[in-house]
Amino acid sequence: MKKIKRILTKIKTKIHEAFFEFKFRRILSRIHPAYGRWIFVGKGWHKIILDLDKQLAKIDPNYQIDQIKEKFGGLRYYCTLEHDEIGHALIKQAEEQSFKTCERCGVPGSTRKLRGWLSTLCDKCLKKRMDNDVGKDY
Ligand SMILES: [Zn+2]
Repeated sequence: MKKIKRILTKIKTKIHEAFFEFKFRRILSRIHPAYGRWIFVGKGWHKIILDLDKQLAKIDPNYQIDQIKEKFGGLRYYCTLEHDEIGHALIKQAEEQSFKTCERCGVPGSTRKLRGWLSTLCDKCLKKRMDNDVGKDY
């Protein structure tokens, strides 16, 4: 039984990784390899990022991403694009949205201080984080 469980977990992880890479293929390809092709935010913000990328791609299909990460409880989306006054308004909008969205699960949340760190979470995820002191779910 234990062996089957372990195999199932392995398969689940592989599927999760493959799905992540498929979902973010376009975004990851915009990141310069020197920055490491990874997105450093919780899955609760994935939709915000995917929507933002779609909008930015309409302005500049070949825009480049420097980094996507969480800082002080909010999304940071660093990129280089043409017509950047429109683009930056869209990025600002998405970043503001992240301060109202739980980084772990995507439901409405707020920014709270936890052991000196700012995190944007819903009540349920805040409790989970405090109970288990687990890391972020990327
Ligand atoms: Zn949550």
